[in-house]
Amino acid sequence: MCDCFEKVEANLQEKTGDPSASLNYMYEMPSFKKKPVIEATYRNKKKDGTFNKTESTISIAYPFCPFCGKKLSEGE
Ligand SMILES: [Zn+2]
Repeated sequence: MCDCFEKVEANLQEKTGDPSASLNYMYEMPSFKKKPVIEATYRNKKKDGTFNKTESTISIAYPFCPFCGKKLSEGE
């Protein structure tokens, strides 16, 4: 796996001045490995077919690094 995420996070922390600034992650089960995710927003559909006004978020993991294009899983 590449080190783009560490570099981007370091850059983010420098830019924002916040040492805990980070990209969005979720934990892969059962290894608890950090997986970078894209956050998407959607609205829940109600029983009558209309949508809720409030938006919900869902996290989607991706298999390739968006910065350099390398596969994120190990051993490939
Ligand atoms: Zn990368």
